[in-house]
Amino acid sequence: MSDHALPSEDEGPVTSEAAFIAAPVALCVISPDHKLCVANAQMAELIGAPAQDLVGQRVDALLPEAVALVERWIKRAIAGLPIAGHELTLPETGRTYLAAACPLHDAQGGFAGLSVALTDVTRRRMLRTGFAQRERRIGFALQNAGQWVWELDIPKGRVHRSPHWKMALGYDVDEATEEDEHEAWSIVHPDDKPMVEQRFQQVLAGRSDVFEAVYRLRDKFGLWRWILGRGRIAEWDAEGRPLRLLATSVDISRQKQIEEELAATVRQREQLERELIEANRRLTELSEMDPLTELPNRRKFDSVLTREIGRTGRHKPSLALMMIDVDGFKHYNDLYGHIEGDECLRKVAETLRHCARRTGDLITRYGGEEFAVILADTDENDAVMVATSMLRAVRDLRVAHAGSPYGIVTVSVGIAIHEAANHDTTAPPVLVASADRALYAAKQAGRNCILVARPDGGAMRVVLAPDGGMGGSPAAPGSEVRR
Ligand code: GH3
Ligand code: MG
Ligand code: MG
Repeated sequence: MSDHALPSEDEGPVTSEAAFIAAPVALCVISPDHKLCVANAQMAELIGAPAQDLVGQRVDALLPEAVALVERWIKRAIAGLPIAGHELTLPETGRTYLAAACPLHDAQGGFAGLSVALTDVTRRRMLRTGFAQRERRIGFALQNAGQWVWELDIPKGRVHRSPHWKMALGYDVDEATEEDEHEAWSIVHPDDKPMVEQRFQQVLAGRSDVFEAVYRLRDKFGLWRWILGRGRIAEWDAEGRPLRLLATSVDISRQKQIEEELAATVRQREQLERELIEANRRLTELSEMDPLTELPNRRKFDSVLTREIGRTGRHKPSLALMMIDVDGFKHYNDLYGHIEGDECLRKVAETLRHCARRTGDLITRYGGEEFAVILADTDENDAVMVATSMLRAVRDLRVAHAGSPYGIVTVSVGIAIHEAANHDTTAPPVLVASADRALYAAKQAGRNCILVARPDGGAMRVVLAPDGGMGGSPAAPGSEVRR
Protein backbone atom coordinates (compact mmCIF):
# COMPACT_ATOMS: atom_id res chain seq x y z
CA MET A 1 0.00 0.00 0.00
CA SER A 2 1.33 3.42 -0.82
CA ASP A 3 1.58 6.14 1.80
CA HIS A 4 -0.71 8.38 -0.14
CA ALA A 5 -2.46 10.55 2.46
CA LEU A 6 -6.17 11.20 2.58
CA PRO A 7 -7.18 14.82 1.92
CA SER A 8 -7.09 16.94 5.07
CA GLU A 9 -10.31 18.36 6.51
CA ASP A 10 -9.67 21.85 5.15
CA GLU A 11 -9.63 20.36 1.65
CA GLY A 12 -13.29 19.50 2.14
CA PRO A 13 -15.06 16.15 1.92
CA VAL A 14 -13.34 13.04 0.51
CA THR A 15 -13.14 13.40 -3.26
CA SER A 16 -13.65 10.69 -5.88
CA GLU A 17 -10.07 11.29 -6.95
CA ALA A 18 -8.84 10.51 -3.44
CA ALA A 19 -10.98 7.41 -3.38
CA PHE A 20 -9.50 6.37 -6.77
CA ILE A 21 -5.97 6.92 -5.56
CA ALA A 22 -6.40 5.09 -2.24
CA ALA A 23 -8.62 2.23 -3.56
CA PRO A 24 -7.45 -1.19 -2.26
CA VAL A 25 -7.20 -2.56 -5.81
CA ALA A 26 -4.82 -1.51 -8.59
CA LEU A 27 -6.63 0.89 -10.93
CA CYS A 28 -5.62 2.68 -14.12
CA VAL A 29 -7.02 4.09 -17.32
CA ILE A 30 -5.53 2.99 -20.63
CA SER A 31 -5.92 5.11 -23.74
CA PRO A 32 -6.94 3.62 -27.10
CA ASP A 33 -3.25 3.82 -28.10
CA HIS A 34 -2.26 1.54 -25.17
CA LYS A 35 -0.85 4.28 -22.94
CA LEU A 36 -1.51 4.73 -19.22
CA CYS A 37 -3.42 7.95 -18.68
CA VAL A 38 -3.73 7.64 -14.92
CA ALA A 39 -2.82 5.05 -12.24
CA ASN A 40 -3.55 4.78 -8.55
CA ALA A 41 -1.16 4.00 -5.73
CA GLN A 42 -1.84 0.24 -5.79
CA MET A 43 -1.11 0.15 -9.54
CA ALA A 44 2.16 2.08 -8.97
CA GLU A 45 3.14 -0.41 -6.30
CA LEU A 46 2.22 -3.36 -8.53
CA ILE A 47 4.35 -2.02 -11.39
CA GLY A 48 7.08 -0.81 -9.04
CA ALA A 49 7.36 2.87 -10.06
CA PRO A 50 5.90 6.19 -8.78
CA ALA A 51 2.41 6.83 -10.13
CA GLN A 52 3.37 10.06 -11.89
CA ASP A 53 6.17 8.25 -13.81
CA LEU A 54 3.66 5.81 -15.29
CA VAL A 55 1.53 8.37 -17.06
CA GLY A 56 2.11 8.38 -20.80
CA GLN A 57 3.99 5.08 -20.80
CA ARG A 58 2.81 2.18 -23.03
CA VAL A 59 1.43 -0.97 -21.51
CA ASP A 60 4.04 -3.11 -23.28
CA ALA A 61 6.79 -1.24 -21.43
CA LEU A 62 5.12 -1.46 -18.03
CA LEU A 63 3.21 -4.80 -17.99
CA PRO A 64 4.27 -6.88 -21.01
CA GLU A 65 2.12 -9.84 -19.74
CA ALA A 66 -0.99 -7.72 -20.12
CA VAL A 67 -0.36 -6.57 -23.69
CA ALA A 68 -2.32 -9.30 -25.46
CA LEU A 69 -5.20 -8.96 -23.04
CA VAL A 70 -5.37 -5.17 -23.42
CA GLU A 71 -5.28 -5.48 -27.20
CA ARG A 72 -8.16 -7.96 -27.11
CA TRP A 73 -10.16 -5.75 -24.74
CA ILE A 74 -9.68 -2.65 -26.88
CA LYS A 75 -10.74 -4.54 -30.02
CA ARG A 76 -13.89 -5.84 -28.31
CA ALA A 77 -14.64 -2.41 -26.78
CA ILE A 78 -14.35 -0.71 -30.18
CA ALA A 79 -16.62 -3.40 -31.62
CA GLY A 80 -19.05 -2.76 -28.77
CA LEU A 81 -18.69 -6.34 -27.45
CA PRO A 82 -18.75 -7.22 -23.72
CA ILE A 83 -15.38 -7.50 -21.99
CA ALA A 84 -14.74 -10.46 -19.71
CA GLY A 85 -12.39 -10.49 -16.74
CA HIS A 86 -9.27 -12.59 -16.90
CA GLU A 87 -6.66 -13.96 -14.55
CA LEU A 88 -3.17 -12.61 -15.01
CA THR A 89 -0.07 -13.98 -13.29
CA LEU A 90 3.01 -11.78 -13.08
CA PRO A 91 6.14 -13.94 -13.33
CA GLU A 92 8.33 -11.50 -11.38
CA THR A 93 6.24 -11.62 -8.20
CA GLY A 94 4.33 -14.84 -8.90
CA ARG A 95 1.15 -13.09 -7.87
CA THR A 96 -2.14 -13.58 -9.66
CA TYR A 97 -4.61 -10.79 -10.37
CA LEU A 98 -8.12 -10.79 -11.64
CA ALA A 99 -7.98 -8.24 -14.44
CA ALA A 100 -11.30 -6.56 -15.21
CA ALA A 101 -11.92 -3.67 -17.57
CA CYS A 102 -14.69 -1.32 -18.52
CA PRO A 103 -14.76 0.83 -21.71
CA LEU A 104 -14.84 4.63 -21.38
CA HIS A 105 -16.51 6.83 -23.99
CA ASP A 106 -16.11 10.51 -24.98
CA ALA A 107 -18.97 12.97 -25.32
CA GLN A 108 -19.67 11.71 -28.87
CA GLY A 109 -19.89 8.11 -27.66
CA GLY A 110 -16.60 7.14 -29.23
CA PHE A 111 -14.23 4.75 -27.48
CA ALA A 112 -12.00 6.83 -25.19
CA GLY A 113 -10.10 4.20 -23.28
CA LEU A 114 -10.36 1.42 -20.71
CA SER A 115 -10.83 1.70 -16.98
CA VAL A 116 -8.87 -1.26 -15.65
CA ALA A 117 -8.83 -2.90 -12.20
CA LEU A 118 -6.39 -5.59 -11.05
CA THR A 119 -7.48 -7.43 -7.88
CA ASP A 120 -4.94 -9.60 -6.13
CA VAL A 121 -6.47 -13.13 -6.09
CA THR A 122 -3.25 -15.00 -5.33
CA ARG A 123 -4.55 -16.45 -2.04
CA ARG A 124 -7.94 -17.32 -3.44
CA ARG A 125 -6.27 -19.06 -6.36
CA MET A 126 -3.95 -21.02 -4.09
CA LEU A 127 -6.92 -22.15 -2.03
CA ARG A 128 -8.85 -23.09 -5.13
CA THR A 129 -5.91 -25.06 -6.52
CA GLY A 130 -5.50 -26.78 -3.14
CA PHE A 131 -9.18 -27.71 -3.03
CA ALA A 132 -9.13 -28.99 -6.57
CA GLN A 133 -6.07 -31.09 -5.83
CA ARG A 134 -7.62 -32.49 -2.67
CA GLU A 135 -10.83 -33.25 -4.46
CA ARG A 136 -8.89 -35.03 -7.23
CA ARG A 137 -6.95 -37.05 -4.66
CA ILE A 138 -10.08 -38.05 -2.74
CA GLY A 139 -11.83 -38.95 -5.97
CA PHE A 140 -8.84 -41.01 -7.06
CA ALA A 141 -8.63 -42.79 -3.70
CA LEU A 142 -12.36 -43.55 -3.71
CA GLN A 143 -12.21 -44.76 -7.28
CA ASN A 144 -9.26 -46.99 -6.45
CA ALA A 145 -11.17 -48.40 -3.51
CA GLY A 146 -14.12 -49.11 -5.82
CA GLN A 147 -16.22 -46.54 -3.96
CA TRP A 148 -18.40 -43.75 -5.18
CA VAL A 149 -19.91 -40.84 -3.37
CA TRP A 150 -23.54 -39.90 -3.61
CA GLU A 151 -25.69 -37.26 -2.16
CA LEU A 152 -29.42 -37.22 -1.60
CA ASP A 153 -31.13 -33.87 -1.78
CA ILE A 154 -33.89 -34.80 0.63
CA PRO A 155 -36.44 -32.04 -0.06
CA LYS A 156 -36.15 -32.59 -3.81
CA GLY A 157 -35.72 -36.35 -3.53
CA ARG A 158 -32.91 -36.19 -6.07
CA VAL A 159 -29.71 -38.26 -6.01
CA HIS A 160 -26.36 -36.96 -7.28
CA ARG A 161 -23.61 -39.51 -7.72
CA SER A 162 -19.90 -39.13 -8.45
CA PRO A 163 -19.29 -40.09 -12.08
CA HIS A 164 -17.37 -43.28 -11.56
CA TRP A 165 -20.34 -45.02 -9.95
CA LYS A 166 -21.34 -45.89 -13.50
CA MET A 167 -17.98 -47.53 -14.10
CA ALA A 168 -18.54 -49.73 -11.06
CA LEU A 169 -21.66 -51.03 -12.78
CA GLY A 170 -19.94 -51.55 -16.11
CA TYR A 171 -21.07 -48.35 -17.88
CA ASP A 172 -18.94 -45.65 -19.44
CA VAL A 173 -18.99 -42.41 -17.45
CA ASP A 174 -21.12 -40.62 -20.04
CA GLU A 175 -23.33 -43.61 -20.85
CA ALA A 176 -27.00 -43.54 -19.81
CA THR A 177 -27.81 -46.21 -17.24
CA GLU A 178 -30.97 -48.24 -16.97
CA GLU A 179 -31.81 -46.04 -14.00
CA ASP A 180 -31.45 -42.88 -16.09
CA GLU A 181 -33.98 -44.30 -18.50
CA HIS A 182 -36.41 -45.58 -15.87
CA GLU A 183 -37.15 -44.23 -12.42
CA ALA A 184 -34.52 -43.86 -9.65
CA TRP A 185 -33.65 -47.03 -7.71
CA SER A 186 -35.14 -49.18 -10.50
CA ILE A 187 -31.92 -51.19 -10.54
CA VAL A 188 -32.22 -52.27 -6.90
CA HIS A 189 -33.02 -55.98 -6.53
CA PRO A 190 -36.76 -56.34 -5.84
CA ASP A 191 -36.05 -58.51 -2.78
CA ASP A 192 -33.81 -55.80 -1.29
CA LYS A 193 -35.89 -52.78 -2.20
CA PRO A 194 -38.30 -52.83 0.76
CA MET A 195 -35.35 -53.05 3.17
CA VAL A 196 -33.46 -50.18 1.45
CA GLU A 197 -36.61 -48.05 1.43
CA GLN A 198 -37.24 -48.76 5.08
CA ARG A 199 -33.68 -47.70 5.99
CA PHE A 200 -34.18 -44.52 3.98
CA GLN A 201 -37.46 -43.83 5.69
CA GLN A 202 -35.78 -44.07 9.08
CA VAL A 203 -33.25 -41.44 8.03
CA LEU A 204 -35.77 -39.20 6.33
CA ALA A 205 -38.10 -39.38 9.33
CA GLY A 206 -35.20 -38.30 11.55
CA ARG A 207 -35.26 -41.59 13.49
CA SER A 208 -31.65 -42.25 12.51
CA ASP A 209 -28.81 -40.05 11.27
CA VAL A 210 -27.08 -42.98 9.69
CA PHE A 211 -28.00 -44.96 6.62
CA GLU A 212 -26.47 -48.36 6.09
CA ALA A 213 -27.66 -51.14 3.82
CA VAL A 214 -26.29 -54.07 1.88
CA TYR A 215 -28.28 -54.63 -1.28
CA ARG A 216 -28.01 -55.70 -4.89
CA LEU A 217 -27.86 -53.46 -7.96
CA ARG A 218 -28.29 -54.67 -11.53
CA ASP A 219 -25.24 -53.81 -13.63
CA LYS A 220 -25.13 -53.01 -17.33
CA PHE A 221 -25.00 -56.71 -18.19
CA GLY A 222 -27.97 -57.66 -16.02
CA LEU A 223 -25.83 -59.23 -13.30
CA TRP A 224 -26.49 -58.48 -9.64
CA ARG A 225 -23.73 -56.64 -7.80
CA TRP A 226 -23.65 -56.56 -4.03
CA ILE A 227 -23.35 -53.01 -2.74
CA LEU A 228 -22.63 -51.66 0.72
CA GLY A 229 -24.10 -48.19 1.06
CA ARG A 230 -23.26 -46.06 4.07
CA GLY A 231 -24.18 -42.48 4.71
CA ARG A 232 -24.97 -39.76 7.22
CA ILE A 233 -27.11 -36.68 7.32
CA ALA A 234 -24.79 -33.80 6.47
CA GLU A 235 -27.22 -30.89 6.75
CA TRP A 236 -30.41 -30.08 8.65
CA ASP A 237 -32.84 -27.17 8.38
CA ALA A 238 -33.56 -24.77 11.25
CA GLU A 239 -36.24 -27.14 12.58
CA GLY A 240 -33.77 -30.00 12.61
CA ARG A 241 -35.23 -31.75 9.57
CA PRO A 242 -32.61 -33.54 7.47
CA LEU A 243 -31.78 -31.79 4.21
CA ARG A 244 -28.86 -33.68 2.75
CA LEU A 245 -27.62 -37.24 3.06
CA LEU A 246 -24.00 -37.78 2.10
CA ALA A 247 -23.04 -41.37 1.41
CA THR A 248 -20.55 -43.70 -0.18
CA SER A 249 -21.20 -46.99 -1.87
CA VAL A 250 -18.83 -49.80 -2.58
CA ASP A 251 -19.13 -52.97 -4.64
CA ILE A 252 -18.71 -55.88 -2.21
CA SER A 253 -19.68 -58.62 -4.68
CA ARG A 254 -16.30 -60.29 -4.38
CA GLN A 255 -16.44 -60.31 -0.57
CA LYS A 256 -20.01 -61.62 -0.76
CA GLN A 257 -18.92 -64.35 -3.14
CA ILE A 258 -16.07 -65.30 -0.79
CA GLU A 259 -18.50 -65.20 2.15
CA GLU A 260 -20.92 -67.46 0.31
CA GLU A 261 -18.15 -69.83 -0.72
CA LEU A 262 -16.95 -69.89 2.85
CA ALA A 263 -20.46 -70.53 4.15
CA ALA A 264 -20.87 -73.32 1.58
CA THR A 265 -17.53 -74.79 2.65
CA VAL A 266 -18.55 -74.55 6.31
CA ARG A 267 -21.91 -76.19 5.51
CA GLN A 268 -20.16 -78.91 3.54
CA ARG A 269 -17.70 -79.43 6.36
CA GLU A 270 -20.47 -79.60 8.94
CA GLN A 271 -22.27 -82.17 6.78
CA LEU A 272 -19.05 -84.19 6.45
CA GLU A 273 -18.51 -83.93 10.19
CA ARG A 274 -22.06 -85.16 10.81
CA GLU A 275 -21.50 -88.04 8.42
CA LEU A 276 -18.18 -88.81 10.04
CA ILE A 277 -19.70 -88.74 13.52
CA GLU A 278 -22.52 -90.98 12.30
CA ALA A 279 -20.04 -93.35 10.58
CA ASN A 280 -17.97 -93.41 13.76
CA ARG A 281 -21.05 -94.04 15.86
CA ARG A 282 -22.06 -96.87 13.52
CA LEU A 283 -18.53 -98.26 13.59
CA THR A 284 -18.44 -98.14 17.37
CA GLU A 285 -21.87 -99.73 17.46
CA LEU A 286 -20.69 -102.47 15.11
CA SER A 287 -17.46 -102.97 17.04
CA GLU A 288 -19.57 -103.29 20.19
CA MET A 289 -22.14 -105.67 18.72
CA ASP A 290 -22.24 -109.43 18.45
CA PRO A 291 -23.30 -110.35 14.91
CA LEU A 292 -24.95 -113.68 15.83
CA THR A 293 -27.34 -112.47 18.50
CA GLU A 294 -27.20 -108.74 17.69
CA LEU A 295 -26.64 -108.10 21.38
CA PRO A 296 -23.85 -105.79 22.58
CA ASN A 297 -20.61 -107.71 22.97
CA ARG A 298 -17.93 -108.10 25.61
CA ARG A 299 -16.23 -104.81 24.65
CA LYS A 300 -19.44 -102.88 25.35
CA PHE A 301 -19.93 -104.85 28.55
CA ASP A 302 -16.49 -103.87 29.86
CA SER A 303 -16.94 -100.14 29.23
CA VAL A 304 -20.50 -100.01 30.61
CA LEU A 305 -19.61 -101.97 33.72
CA THR A 306 -16.72 -99.62 34.54
CA ARG A 307 -18.95 -96.60 33.88
CA GLU A 308 -21.90 -97.89 35.92
CA ILE A 309 -19.74 -98.89 38.89
CA GLY A 310 -18.37 -95.35 38.80
CA ARG A 311 -21.93 -94.00 38.87
CA THR A 312 -23.05 -95.84 41.94
CA GLY A 313 -23.19 -93.63 44.99
CA ARG A 314 -25.69 -92.01 47.33
CA HIS A 315 -28.44 -91.90 44.69
CA LYS A 316 -27.65 -95.29 43.14
CA PRO A 317 -26.41 -97.34 46.07
CA SER A 318 -26.10 -100.71 44.30
CA LEU A 319 -25.69 -102.40 40.96
CA ALA A 320 -26.31 -106.02 39.97
CA LEU A 321 -24.29 -108.17 37.63
CA MET A 322 -25.60 -111.47 36.32
CA MET A 323 -23.68 -114.12 34.42
CA ILE A 324 -26.00 -116.47 32.52
CA ASP A 325 -24.78 -119.66 30.89
CA VAL A 326 -26.72 -122.13 28.72
CA ASP A 327 -26.70 -125.51 30.37
CA GLY A 328 -25.17 -128.49 28.58
CA PHE A 329 -24.74 -126.58 25.39
CA LYS A 330 -21.82 -128.59 24.12
CA HIS A 331 -24.10 -131.54 24.23
CA TYR A 332 -26.79 -129.60 22.41
CA ASN A 333 -24.39 -128.84 19.56
CA ASP A 334 -23.34 -132.43 19.45
CA LEU A 335 -26.94 -133.55 19.22
CA TYR A 336 -28.40 -131.01 16.83
CA GLY A 337 -25.40 -129.49 15.06
CA HIS A 338 -23.91 -126.00 15.20
CA ILE A 339 -26.49 -124.38 12.95
CA GLU A 340 -29.26 -125.45 15.31
CA GLY A 341 -26.97 -124.41 18.16
CA ASP A 342 -26.68 -120.92 16.69
CA GLU A 343 -30.44 -120.70 16.28
CA CYS A 344 -30.89 -121.77 19.89
CA LEU A 345 -28.44 -119.10 21.04
CA ARG A 346 -30.34 -116.47 19.09
CA LYS A 347 -33.64 -117.52 20.70
CA VAL A 348 -32.13 -117.48 24.18
CA ALA A 349 -30.58 -114.06 23.51
CA GLU A 350 -33.88 -112.61 22.29
CA THR A 351 -35.72 -114.03 25.28
CA LEU A 352 -33.21 -112.62 27.76
CA ARG A 353 -33.33 -109.27 26.03
CA HIS A 354 -37.07 -109.09 26.58
CA CYS A 355 -36.60 -109.56 30.30
CA ALA A 356 -34.14 -106.70 30.76
CA ARG A 357 -35.70 -103.70 29.05
CA ARG A 358 -35.51 -101.08 31.77
CA THR A 359 -33.31 -98.04 31.15
CA GLY A 360 -30.00 -98.86 32.75
CA ASP A 361 -30.29 -102.58 31.92
CA LEU A 362 -27.70 -103.93 29.54
CA ILE A 363 -27.65 -107.49 28.30
CA THR A 364 -24.52 -108.60 26.42
CA ARG A 365 -23.13 -111.72 24.87
CA TYR A 366 -20.11 -112.21 27.08
CA GLY A 367 -18.71 -115.06 24.97
CA GLY A 368 -19.72 -118.50 23.70
CA GLU A 369 -23.06 -119.47 25.25
CA GLU A 370 -22.59 -117.06 28.13
CA PHE A 371 -24.46 -113.78 28.65
CA ALA A 372 -23.66 -111.00 31.10
CA VAL A 373 -26.35 -108.60 32.33
CA ILE A 374 -25.71 -105.26 34.07
CA LEU A 375 -28.65 -103.91 36.04
CA ALA A 376 -27.84 -100.36 37.12
CA ASP A 377 -29.33 -98.99 40.35
CA THR A 378 -30.60 -102.46 41.33
CA ASP A 379 -30.44 -104.29 44.63
CA GLU A 380 -30.33 -108.02 45.25
CA ASN A 381 -34.11 -108.51 45.45
CA ASP A 382 -34.75 -106.78 42.15
CA ALA A 383 -31.85 -108.59 40.51
CA VAL A 384 -33.29 -111.95 41.66
CA MET A 385 -36.68 -110.98 40.22
CA VAL A 386 -35.13 -110.21 36.84
CA ALA A 387 -33.01 -113.36 36.90
CA THR A 388 -36.06 -115.44 37.80
CA SER A 389 -38.06 -114.03 34.93
CA MET A 390 -35.15 -114.78 32.59
CA LEU A 391 -34.69 -118.32 33.75
CA ARG A 392 -38.41 -118.98 33.48
CA ALA A 393 -38.67 -117.34 30.09
CA VAL A 394 -35.91 -119.63 28.73
CA ARG A 395 -37.66 -122.63 30.20
CA ASP A 396 -40.91 -121.42 28.63
CA LEU A 397 -39.24 -121.46 25.22
CA ARG A 398 -39.40 -125.20 25.55
CA VAL A 399 -36.55 -125.79 23.13
CA ALA A 400 -36.08 -129.53 23.16
CA HIS A 401 -32.74 -130.72 24.51
CA ALA A 402 -32.59 -134.48 24.56
CA GLY A 403 -29.27 -134.34 26.41
CA SER A 404 -30.69 -132.36 29.35
CA PRO A 405 -32.27 -134.01 32.39
CA TYR A 406 -35.04 -131.40 32.00
CA GLY A 407 -35.60 -132.31 28.34
CA ILE A 408 -35.44 -128.64 27.38
CA VAL A 409 -32.79 -125.90 27.05
CA THR A 410 -32.20 -124.21 30.41
CA VAL A 411 -29.80 -121.62 31.81
CA SER A 412 -27.96 -121.14 35.09
CA VAL A 413 -27.53 -117.72 36.62
CA GLY A 414 -24.90 -116.31 38.97
CA ILE A 415 -25.58 -112.89 40.54
CA ALA A 416 -23.15 -110.49 42.24
CA ILE A 417 -24.15 -107.19 43.79
CA HIS A 418 -21.90 -104.14 43.88
CA GLU A 419 -22.64 -101.89 46.84
CA ALA A 420 -21.50 -98.25 46.57
CA ALA A 421 -20.20 -98.56 50.11
CA ASN A 422 -17.70 -101.22 48.90
CA HIS A 423 -16.46 -99.13 46.08
CA ASP A 424 -12.83 -99.92 46.63
CA THR A 425 -13.23 -103.65 46.88
CA THR A 426 -15.57 -104.24 43.94
CA ALA A 427 -13.61 -103.17 40.89
CA PRO A 428 -15.10 -104.58 37.64
CA PRO A 429 -12.90 -107.73 37.53
CA VAL A 430 -13.73 -108.51 41.15
CA LEU A 431 -17.46 -108.20 40.47
CA VAL A 432 -17.21 -110.41 37.35
CA ALA A 433 -15.24 -113.01 39.31
CA SER A 434 -17.94 -113.02 42.04
CA ALA A 435 -20.75 -113.51 39.53
CA ASP A 436 -18.68 -116.23 37.82
CA ARG A 437 -18.25 -117.94 41.13
CA ALA A 438 -22.00 -117.87 41.73
CA LEU A 439 -22.57 -119.21 38.23
CA TYR A 440 -20.11 -122.04 38.79
CA ALA A 441 -21.87 -122.86 42.05
CA ALA A 442 -25.22 -122.85 40.22
CA LYS A 443 -23.80 -125.43 37.82
CA GLN A 444 -22.64 -127.43 40.78
CA ALA A 445 -26.05 -127.13 42.38
CA GLY A 446 -27.65 -128.88 39.42
CA ARG A 447 -27.91 -126.12 36.79
CA ASN A 448 -31.25 -124.44 35.77
CA CYS A 449 -31.05 -122.33 38.95
CA ILE A 450 -29.99 -118.92 40.30
CA LEU A 451 -27.33 -118.27 42.93
CA VAL A 452 -26.29 -115.01 44.54
CA ALA A 453 -22.68 -114.48 45.54
CA ARG A 454 -22.02 -113.12 49.02
CA PRO A 455 -19.84 -110.02 48.98
CA ASP A 456 -17.48 -111.63 51.52
CA GLY A 457 -16.92 -114.58 49.16
CA GLY A 458 -18.69 -116.91 51.59
CA ALA A 459 -21.76 -119.15 51.12
CA MET A 460 -24.15 -118.48 48.25
CA ARG A 461 -27.90 -118.37 48.38
CA VAL A 462 -29.96 -120.52 46.05
CA VAL A 463 -32.85 -118.37 45.00
CA LEU A 464 -34.52 -120.57 42.43
CA ALA A 465 -34.26 -124.33 42.61
CA PRO A 466 -33.88 -126.40 39.51
CA ASP A 467 -36.71 -128.75 38.68
CA GLY A 468 -34.59 -131.82 39.21
CA GLY A 469 -30.83 -132.26 39.00
CA MET A 470 -28.08 -132.64 36.51
CA GLY A 471 -25.04 -134.20 38.07
CA GLY A 472 -25.17 -134.01 41.86
CA SER A 473 -28.21 -133.48 44.03
CA PRO A 474 -30.27 -130.36 43.28
CA ALA A 475 -30.23 -127.67 45.95
CA ALA A 476 -33.42 -126.51 47.60
CA PRO A 477 -34.45 -122.82 47.45
CA GLY A 478 -33.17 -120.81 50.39
CA SER A 479 -30.47 -123.37 51.10
CA GLU A 480 -26.82 -122.36 51.09
CA VAL A 481 -24.10 -123.79 48.88
CA ARG A 482 -20.43 -123.67 49.81
CA ARG A 483 -17.70 -123.79 47.26
P1 GH3 B 1 -22.32 -126.32 31.11
O1 GH3 B 1 -23.72 -126.73 31.46
O2 GH3 B 1 -21.40 -126.69 32.21
O3 GH3 B 1 -22.27 -124.93 30.77
O4 GH3 B 1 -21.94 -127.16 29.90
P2 GH3 B 1 -21.68 -126.63 28.43
O5 GH3 B 1 -21.60 -127.79 27.53
O6 GH3 B 1 -22.65 -125.61 28.09
O7 GH3 B 1 -20.31 -125.95 28.63
P3 GH3 B 1 -19.01 -125.93 27.74
O8 GH3 B 1 -18.24 -124.72 28.16
O9 GH3 B 1 -18.30 -127.25 27.92
O10 GH3 B 1 -19.46 -125.80 26.30
C1 GH3 B 1 -19.91 -124.58 25.73
C2 GH3 B 1 -20.20 -124.86 24.31
O11 GH3 B 1 -20.85 -123.80 23.65
C3 GH3 B 1 -18.96 -125.15 23.53
C4 GH3 B 1 -19.18 -124.51 22.21
O12 GH3 B 1 -19.15 -125.38 21.14
C5 GH3 B 1 -20.55 -123.94 22.31
N1 GH3 B 1 -20.59 -122.66 21.71
C6 GH3 B 1 -19.94 -121.55 22.07
N2 GH3 B 1 -20.21 -120.55 21.22
C7 GH3 B 1 -21.07 -121.04 20.27
C8 GH3 B 1 -21.69 -120.49 19.13
O13 GH3 B 1 -21.55 -119.35 18.76
N3 GH3 B 1 -22.51 -121.30 18.41
C9 GH3 B 1 -22.71 -122.57 18.75
N4 GH3 B 1 -23.52 -123.29 18.02
N5 GH3 B 1 -22.11 -123.10 19.80
C10 GH3 B 1 -21.31 -122.38 20.57
MG1 MG C 1 -22.81 -123.89 29.17
MG1 MG D 1 -19.98 -121.78 29.19
